[in-house]
Amino acid sequence: MKAHSIASLVRPCIARLTPYSTARDDYQGELGVFLDANESPYENGYNRYPDPHQAALKALISPMKGLPVENIFLGNGSDEAIDLVFRVFCEPRVDNVVAIAPSYGMYTVAAAINDVAVREVPLGPEFSLPKAELLAAADAHTKALFLCSPNNPTGNAFAREDLLELVEAFEGIVVVDEAYIDFSSVPSLAAEVRRYPNLIVLQTMSKARGMAGLRLGLALADAPIVRLMSMVKYPYNINEAAQRLVADLLRQPIDDQVACIVQQRGVVAKRLRALPVVERVYPSDANFLLVKVRDADAAYEHLVRRGIIVRNRNRVLQCAGCLRITIGLPQENEKMLQSLAEL
Ligand SMILES: *Cc1c(COP(=O)(O)O)cnc(C)c1O
Repeated sequence: MKAHSIASLVRPCIARLTPYSTARDDYQGELGVFLDANESPYENGYNRYPDPHQAALKALISPMKGLPVENIFLGNGSDEAIDLVFRVFCEPRVDNVVAIAPSYGMYTVAAAINDVAVREVPLGPEFSLPKAELLAAADAHTKALFLCSPNNPTGNAFAREDLLELVEAFEGIVVVDEAYIDFSSVPSLAAEVRRYPNLIVLQTMSKARGMAGLRLGLALADAPIVRLMSMVKYPYNINEAAQRLVADLLRQPIDDQVACIVQQRGVVAKRLRALPVVERVYPSDANFLLVKVRDADAAYEHLVRRGIIVRNRNRVLQCAGCLRITIGLPQENEKMLQSLAEL
């Protein structure tokens, strides 16, 4: 897809939009007399509006991702970025998107809220990427394709060549949600946003980075897409506390934690396979396992009664009989395994 054709995908009302501007953009210093925003002048650490451009945080994230700040959009969770894809590109009741199924529930929720149809394409055998079917599902009103790798809830990652083949062939925005990429043996597509004007790679601080409570998601994309999303977002979408705390926490390495979770994933998968109640443990590139059990509802209830909460995916397409179990601390995993062993 060519760079100039991105403009043709944008909703007319967004193409016409004059975004909200703040007077503070006219002054870069720290020590000014700020009488422009009707804030309280009494310092308490949070009396000023936060930086709408999140310059300090982006400057910190940029070298970590190996991308210039012009390729980085920060959202109030990746959920905000998902919603913005609809708000920027999809005309309600006119346009549609294509998505793999089963996958992350927010694609269909955000679509429904924006009154945009989702054409769900079931994954192939062994949760493989149905490339031809995804392309065939698109028509002249299809604005975006939602892919998730490693995929939630199936746990598998798709081959990089297959994802890029879709990015090249698809005549619209391709979103590749990499929420679980830190746990995967398949490398990120983040660097590819410099080569493909229609690619949006979503990442999040919520999973491996351990900041689900702070709400920070990344959309990595070519500069024109980042500019469009920045124009449409709420001006102060990332609050001051989150901007500061994420920056602080990003200075702490997580390599040991990720290595431990990946190691535990292998141990737990093996132990689960030995249990009578377990019929199948699917391969995982994420921090969870999709596990097929004899009676998923009964197993789920049994775990809840022991204070262990997992995700029951029994009623999800292609996941009948399945629980999605997050990898926790070794002692938490042990407790879950012992409870399932009682069945
Ligand atoms: C958990 C998850 C996210 C994270 O969303 P945030 O809003 O950043 O917390 C995004 N995508 C997928 C597929 C997820 O499973």
